[in-house]
Amino acid sequence: MELQTPTIDAAIESLRPRLTGSVAVPGEPGYELATPWNLSIPVTPRAVVAVADADDVAVTVRFAAEHGLRVAVQRTGHGAVPLDGDVLLVHTARLNECVVDPDSRTARVESGAIWQDVLAAAAPHGLAPLAGSSATVGVAGFLTGAGIGPLVRTYGLSSDHVRSFDIVTGDGERLHVTPHQHAELFWGLRGGKATLGIVTAVEIELLPISRIHGGALYFDGADAAAVAHAWLDWCQDLPEHSSTSIAFLQLPPLPQVPPPLAGRLTIAVRFASVADTSEAESLIARLRAVATPLIDAVGPMPYAALSAIHADPVDPMPTHELSALTGALTHEAIDALLAIAGPGSGSPQTVIELRLLGGALAREPRHRSAFCHRDAAFGLMVAGVSAPPLARPVAEHAHAVVRALAPWTTGGAHPNFSASTDPARIARCYDEDTRHWLGALADRHDPRGVLRVGQVVRTP
Ligand SMILES: Cc1cc2nc3c(=O)[nH]c(=O)nc-3n(C[C@H](O)[C@H](O)[C@H](O)COP(=O)(O)OP(=O)(O)OC[C@H]3O[C@@H](n4cnc5c(N)ncnc54)[C@H](O)[C@@H]3O)c2cc1C
Repeated sequence: MELQTPTIDAAIESLRPRLTGSVAVPGEPGYELATPWNLSIPVTPRAVVAVADADDVAVTVRFAAEHGLRVAVQRTGHGAVPLDGDVLLVHTARLNECVVDPDSRTARVESGAIWQDVLAAAAPHGLAPLAGSSATVGVAGFLTGAGIGPLVRTYGLSSDHVRSFDIVTGDGERLHVTPHQHAELFWGLRGGKATLGIVTAVEIELLPISRIHGGALYFDGADAAAVAHAWLDWCQDLPEHSSTSIAFLQLPPLPQVPPPLAGRLTIAVRFASVADTSEAESLIARLRAVATPLIDAVGPMPYAALSAIHADPVDPMPTHELSALTGALTHEAIDALLAIAGPGSGSPQTVIELRLLGGALAREPRHRSAFCHRDAAFGLMVAGVSAPPLARPVAEHAHAVVRALAPWTTGGAHPNFSASTDPARIARCYDEDTRHWLGALADRHDPRGVLRVGQVVRTP
């Protein structure tokens, strides 16, 4: 059914009284919620529905089906995709309750919560959620994308620690999804992003962790080659109790950037370990010995301060992001990276990161999921500012970085680092069987294609 603008507008008026939350069309207060963290992505839906509860989500989805509209979901816009036209955007910020059960070591988290909400609720009980590198990322977006956190090698994917989801399907049905109830959806929601439904709440396991040993060593760009080669050697036998990444940084001179890191190339070795202090210190000592760090910020730290390890940007910004997964890396790979991103390369990127994977991530969890890349050895992520005049050179250079590492990349991609509406890019996140089953399940639970928008897998 194709609707004309006046008809849609009239229909949207009729949605307002059916909701506890609110609806905003362009120009109305509340529409600005659509503006994503990634300011380079045009998110201009027909209307923004700020849902107040799970019923609002179901009402919105059914309404969209009745009127030939589609429904997308967004919380922070860290993984925003372009939206316009006939799309209602469910915005989940008001669904942000987080209840910790210290006895069962679980939390029931509504889908509009961000990791900071869960870290703050769990810490007083000595408990920890497997959050990502940035505490301002949304819990549901992260977990449906098979989130990897700073302790990924020790505990595996954060989505491996989900107990249940509450969702609204494209049919407008509210379902409680567990490994035993709608097991096929439980499989597909962990990795399939919003393909199979809009998550309204999730129950996750918490770990009895209050403190870890972690942080980052920041080296001068001039030491890039020595540090990067030593890091690769160090990664070969890094025990599973420790996770790490290396980042080539070119941070802008902003007040929140420490002066020694601003306006120049620096190399960050990020580290997070649940080993005891002496073991963790002796591990990191090998890298401290490679060169003198500009800043040495590795030591015992509260788990709740996890975000300090990566120190990701908090404020919204226009970003271009490209990612890839690799197999084992060699020193030739590091040389290739140095040539395109190291000193004198002219790289325009703000950050180029290699994350060591493996460890617990490489093992299938008790309940299989739609994540298809447990054999990847490293995750590559290239991010730069996407605003004129840099937008084009940043994008072209990002592709050049991935091409430079082509001898080592697997061709696969991680769903959380593949925000896109391009079916070819989304396809790289899954193997053929997984794509097939996600598409078939989506067709079954969303026969009218209400959720056929954004980063989803559908049959052609
Ligand atoms: C600075 C930064 C740091 C990051 N660090 C990490 C990291 O350490 N590890 C990692 O794995 N990822 C990381 N990411 C990627 C991030 O996890 C994804 O972009 C994720 O999708 C963000 O979720 P969101 O809800 O905050 O974003 P949004 O842009 O609001 O949502 C992105 C997508 O998530 C899905 N989604 C959101 N809410 C729901 C819902 N309620 N139900 C179903 N699907 C939903 C939808 O597909 C939506 O399009 C990072 C991204 C940035 C920009």
